[in-house]
Amino acid sequence: MSADMKYNDSLFLSCVSCPLKLYHLSHNRSERKPYLPFKQRNKLQLRDAVALRYKERKFTSDSVPEAASETELWLQSEQAAICGAVVKAGRFFTRIPILLKAGDELTVIQIHGRLMKRSHSGVINPPVYSRSTAGYLLKAAYRMEVLKRAYPDYRLKVELFFPDKRYRSSLDRLLQQVANANLARPHADLCEEIEKLFTSIEATKAANAVNGELPENISHRASAGLSVSEVMNRIETIDWSKRNPFDVQIHRECKNCEFRQPGANNKSDCWSQFFSRNAKRFPDHHIFELIGHGNDEDIERGIYYQEDSLISEYSNSFERVKKLTRGPITIQQRRDLQILAANEKRVPEVWIKPDELRFEKLQFPLHFIDFEAATYALPMNRGSRPYNQIYFQFSCHTLYEDGTLRHSEWLDDDPKRGYPHIEFIEKFSAIESIFEGTLIQYSPFESQALHKLLAELQRNSMLYEEKILTMKKLLYREGGPGLLRIFDLSRAVRDGYYNQFMSAGIGLKHVMRSVMQLQCHRDELNTNELQVYDKKIGLTPDRMHEVNYNIYTLLQHPEYSVEDGAEAMDAYISLKSNLLSPRESEIIPTLLRRYCAMDSYALVLLYKHLRYLSEQNADKYRVIID
Ligand code: SF4
Repeated sequence: MSADMKYNDSLFLSCVSCPLKLYHLSHNRSERKPYLPFKQRNKLQLRDAVALRYKERKFTSDSVPEAASETELWLQSEQAAICGAVVKAGRFFTRIPILLKAGDELTVIQIHGRLMKRSHSGVINPPVYSRSTAGYLLKAAYRMEVLKRAYPDYRLKVELFFPDKRYRSSLDRLLQQVANANLARPHADLCEEIEKLFTSIEATKAANAVNGELPENISHRASAGLSVSEVMNRIETIDWSKRNPFDVQIHRECKNCEFRQPGANNKSDCWSQFFSRNAKRFPDHHIFELIGHGNDEDIERGIYYQEDSLISEYSNSFERVKKLTRGPITIQQRRDLQILAANEKRVPEVWIKPDELRFEKLQFPLHFIDFEAATYALPMNRGSRPYNQIYFQFSCHTLYEDGTLRHSEWLDDDPKRGYPHIEFIEKFSAIESIFEGTLIQYSPFESQALHKLLAELQRNSMLYEEKILTMKKLLYREGGPGLLRIFDLSRAVRDGYYNQFMSAGIGLKHVMRSVMQLQCHRDELNTNELQVYDKKIGLTPDRMHEVNYNIYTLLQHPEYSVEDGAEAMDAYISLKSNLLSPRESEIIPTLLRRYCAMDSYALVLLYKHLRYLSEQNADKYRVIID
């Protein structure tokens, strides 16, 4: 690591959770996105909203050196509220959401997304048992330490802001009002509303306690119990030539670590660099991806690879696993099969139970649907609470009995437009033949969304009488409530389908990947180009075995990407908040449309695969039809 290496909040926090993360982060700097991630922009918008309560607010520049100079200068005033303050102390620096100065007192203001009841005591006192609160305090403790070193003569305080759980917006389009506010002279109504939305908690004592002794529940054992200052001193002197100076071993924190799996985009691959990964037959099949119960017990015993998980005598062969229960395939049977496969025991290529698929319930045309929703602290319509769901996009692939496939889609892509639910309902109900046949979803999400939209309309039943009838026609077969028109394909997969490449959960993306690997293995992969919204993509059999192979990657722009639901949500919130550049406004809606179209198209591919297999003849070594 170079001697001029600088450490920011993120590097410090990563090092506390696992010292090896610091090693990987400092060797993967070029992997950062070349643009400010949308999630980050949306967080900054919340900071700007909270800043409205401080008259002396000033905003620093994006550039760290400029922001550091501005902070230094503005701290010479008697009173200041510096948004995005940058404070440096030696090789450490911190970017503070809002730094308040009043005389000889500096207050670190942090804004967090977790909903909080306003009936709290107003103070966080140590000891703190909640992991999330300890995480907020750790950030504050690091910031206090940098401030202490840079400005030793000041008294330091910490205040945390949270959206209030009981808040209901009394303004329409609060999100857009904040986005378009004149931050120099905001409207009084808006400031008042923001006062009501956020509640604050004094956290100085608790942050001081964390500063003196890092809590075990959020710290790697190499850092737990040390002070922030001790960890900072140690970071500066780490000798990485000793390879793994803190003798870090695989641990629970690895589960969500970006460096665990072999690297997409040339990211470090921690387990092969530092541990025994290369001695394993299936080094990419980790315990964290085993479904069902038993992972905690395995981790307690220090087992982290699927192939090392113990096989019980009742499930030491496929035949025994199959006999365990009749009816639907259970989660525990899936787990047993994952472990058998990882131990190179014979498992069938496919185990399918056509009766459990329940495809006899389907009526053409089949509408494969996918919705996207956003939740954000700033509501979009009067009467809404923070984090109320906003359905902003759908994609529907309609498959007719003669094999014709038609794609329909809609996205709320106009930043000037307000709350989008009425338009969502209008566009969705305008899909050709949507009131005929069956709607097919993956997970209960879409049917829950339609029920929520119906309930929302019913709160204004005089105004939306016609739309209420439309929604009921979308949801229910003739005959009324109880006869839903929606079929859950995830349930069909869960109860009636297994293939030997299912090495993780039964989420759509995992299942689709396993299906493509299976098709590749059986030489049945369709390598014709697929049309996904405006983009033609080709599947490449020679890459299917790669652990990070992801069909969604093929849909992206060279610079920008929207590869999962969370990224879609963040991109949408930035779009509605006017936080996209003109160039991004051209690119991002297309990426959102491709992403959602891929999700509904994946359902078509999955349905066709299941239909094809369930109509095959059984082959006792490859396809078990049960
Ligand atoms: S994979 Fe585990 S050991 Fe490696 S950096 Fe991540 S958390 Fe640390």
